[in-house]
Amino acid sequence: MAAKYIFITGGVVSSLGKGLSAASLAALLQGRGFKVRLRKLDPYLNVDPGTMNPTQHGEVFVTEDGAETDLDLGHYERFTGVNARKSDNVTTGQIYSTLLAKERRGDYLGGTVQVIPHVTDLIKNFIRGSETDEDFILCEIGGTVGDIEGLPFFEAIRQLGYELGRGRVLFVHVTLIPYIAAARELKTKPTQHSVKELRSIGIQPDILLCRADREVPLGDKKKIAQFCNVPVENVISALDAATIYQVPQNLNREGLDTQVLKHFGLKSKRELHLAEWERIVKRHAQPKGEVTVALVGKYTSIGDTYKSLTEALDHAGIAHNLRVKVQWINSRVFESADAAKKLKEVDAILVPGGFGEDGVRGKIAAVTYAREHHIPYFGICFGMQIAVIEMVRNLLGVKDATSSEFSAAASKDLRGPVVGLMTEWKTAGKTERRSKESDLGGTMRLGAYPCVIAPKTLAHKIYGAAEISERHRHRYEVNLNYADALAKQGVVFSGLSPDGRLPEIVELKNHPFFIGVQFHPEFKSRPFAPHPIFAAFIKAAKERVKTNMALFTC
Ligand code: GLN
Repeated sequence: MAAKYIFITGGVVSSLGKGLSAASLAALLQGRGFKVRLRKLDPYLNVDPGTMNPTQHGEVFVTEDGAETDLDLGHYERFTGVNARKSDNVTTGQIYSTLLAKERRGDYLGGTVQVIPHVTDLIKNFIRGSETDEDFILCEIGGTVGDIEGLPFFEAIRQLGYELGRGRVLFVHVTLIPYIAAARELKTKPTQHSVKELRSIGIQPDILLCRADREVPLGDKKKIAQFCNVPVENVISALDAATIYQVPQNLNREGLDTQVLKHFGLKSKRELHLAEWERIVKRHAQPKGEVTVALVGKYTSIGDTYKSLTEALDHAGIAHNLRVKVQWINSRVFESADAAKKLKEVDAILVPGGFGEDGVRGKIAAVTYAREHHIPYFGICFGMQIAVIEMVRNLLGVKDATSSEFSAAASKDLRGPVVGLMTEWKTAGKTERRSKESDLGGTMRLGAYPCVIAPKTLAHKIYGAAEISERHRHRYEVNLNYADALAKQGVVFSGLSPDGRLPEIVELKNHPFFIGVQFHPEFKSRPFAPHPIFAAFIKAAKERVKTNMALFTC
C-alpha cells in the first residue's frame, strides 16, 4: 500500500502536546499492525536545535545516525520503538541552506527563486523523501497555525493534500478547550477561530483533537462539529493524563485510531491489545516505594531540559515498581560545608550532560561527596568527565587537573589535560578533524558508536554483553594517560572504543555503585525496555534506602 500521510498541526496555544498526540496515534496504528514513521517539521531558522539553549527549547535529542533533533523525536522513539533518522526532522534553517546552496550552484539558473514553489517543493521533497515501506507517515508541524514562520510548511502540506488526494492525506488539528472558572463552562470559541485560521490557508481539518482538563460534553462537540465542518465523531477530546503513557489508551477510548482508519477506508490488520500500556500505567500509579535522585546541574529548573533523562529514570522506576522522585539540586549546594544537611534525603546522585564552566566547582564537589559517602553515583557525559577530573585531583593529587573546555591554563602535569579536545577521530571510515576554531554547530562526536566492555566489571554485569552501542554528543574526550595511575586507586576504564583510544565507561571499585559514561544512555531507554544502567542505578538507590532504614531503626 502506498504510504498515507497524517499531518498534525496545532492551534490556539503552544505546548498542547502535539508531539505526544502524534506519538500516541502512531503507537495505536502500530498496535493495529501498520508500519509507521514519525517526522517533525520545525519552522525556526536554526539548522538544528544543537545550538539552542535547552532551557528555552528543551532537550536536544540525538538519533542513531547522529542528528541533533527536536525532543519530540524522543517521544516518537519511546512510544513506537522505531529509531528516528536524520531525515525525520527538518527545520526552516535546513531548507534554506539547501536552497541557497542550490541557487549558488546554478540549479535555478535564469529563474527567480521564491517561497512558492521553491521552498515549498523542498519541504514536500523532505516529507516524501526517504520513505521505505511505511503504511503511515505522521508529520507534526511545529508551532501554531498563524505563525508567520510556519506559513511555508502549512502551504506545502496543503499542496500535498491536493496532489495526493483525501484518500492518502489526513489533517489532524490539536486545539484547546479552556475551562472558564467564573462561567463554569468549557469554551469552544478558540477552537472555532483556530480552525477558521487553518481554513483561511486552505486546510480543512479532518479530525480535531481537543485538549481539555475535563470531559467535553456531547453538546460542545456538536457545536464544534457544526462550526468547523467536521463530523461529530471526529471531534475527539484529549484529556490531561496523569502520565504520558496513558495517552494512547485515552485517545483509543475516544475513537481516534478507529476514525483515522475509517477516513482511509482501511481495516485493522490485527486486533489492538493495550495490555502492555495498561501495565506500565498501573505500575506508575501504584508504586511500592520511592527513591529520591538528586540531579545536579547549573540550571535552576529542569522542565524539558532533560526530557529523555527524566523519562529514563521513570522507566527504571517502573521496572522496580518504585516512584523515582527527582530532586533538582543546584551544584553550588555541594560547595558549602553543610552540604550533608541538605542532602540527607537523597538516595543517589546523578550529574547529567552539560557544557561550559558554570557550576563545575559544585559538580566536582558532588562527585567527592558521592564517592566519600558511598552514595550511588551516575555521571553522564559531562558527569563522567567531571568524575574523572575529581578522581585525578583527589586520588592522584594532581590539584590543577581540569578540562580544556573550561580552563585555558594547561595543567603542569605532563600527561596533559584530563579531558581534552581530540583533534581527529574516525567515523564511518572517514576521518573527522576539529580544532577550537571549528564551527560549533554539528561538529561534536554525534550518534551511535560501539564500545567494548571489559569482563568482570560493573559495566559487564549491567549490560551482560562484551560489546554495546550507545549514542554520543560531546566535543571533548577523557585522556587515557591517567589510566594506569587511576587503576591503582581502584578506578577502572571498563568500556573503551574498539581501537582502545577513547574511554567510554569509568567505574570505581569498593563503592556500592559508581559509574560514569561518555555517552547518553537515556536516549535509548524505552518504557517497555528500561535502559540497564538506569535500572541498575535505581536498584542501587533502593538498596541505599534499605540500608538507611536499617541504620535508622537500630
Ligand atoms: N561539554 C562536554 C563535551 O563537549 C560534555 C558534553 C555533554 O555532556 N553532552 O565534551
